[in-house]
Amino acid sequence: MAENVLPTSIRTDGAANTVSTSSSAMSPHVFPTQIEPFKWAELGFVWQGQVELARFARVAAEVIPPHDQQAIALDCKLYVDDRKIARLDATMKATLPLTCQRCLHQLDFDLDAHIHLAMFTDEKYLDRLGREKDEIDYVILSEAQLAHGAETIDVLNLLEDEILLLLPLSPKHDDCELAVASVGDDLLCSNGQVVEEKRNPFDVLAGLKLK
Ligand SMILES: [Zn+2]
Repeated sequence: MAENVLPTSIRTDGAANTVSTSSSAMSPHVFPTQIEPFKWAELGFVWQGQVELARFARVAAEVIPPHDQQAIALDCKLYVDDRKIARLDATMKATLPLTCQRCLHQLDFDLDAHIHLAMFTDEKYLDRLGREKDEIDYVILSEAQLAHGAETIDVLNLLEDEILLLLPLSPKHDDCELAVASVGDDLLCSNGQVVEEKRNPFDVLAGLKLK
């Protein structure tokens, strides 16, 4: 399976500007779900385009819907540097509507992520980073993380981890009013009645069982 995916996908690198590639089902405009990181880095892989927000499920969970119209602009590159280290460079940009934790209104968060990852199969190769060891981000893609036998990873999953680190834990406008008081009142007034109505049938049932 992976053997079919590899050549056509890599071809989108060199032919990124051509409209159609081979008869592959994989469009060059859709970011591949699985990538063989070390092999693709060796061959060189470049991808630019929009990735639907829905493909970053953990990020989407933090973003105000609808998600089907939202996307993250991705510029991604896999290559081997001059020290023979496989590298993943990526830039991700988007404006993500989050919920302000103070006023509960929308807060637009400008995502501007620049990722530079060194990829290793084993910790023992970390020495190759030399003096950069403490400065450069790296990831160990052990066999456990690579899919069975195919040696592929979901790069979006890796990128998503980085986005989540950048998202504010508790997003708040610089200057806004606390919404708690008015929200509390609204809930009591509008829902109090509904809750009462829903409870009544059960009360009746409970009464019947007792008899
Ligand atoms: Zn606010």
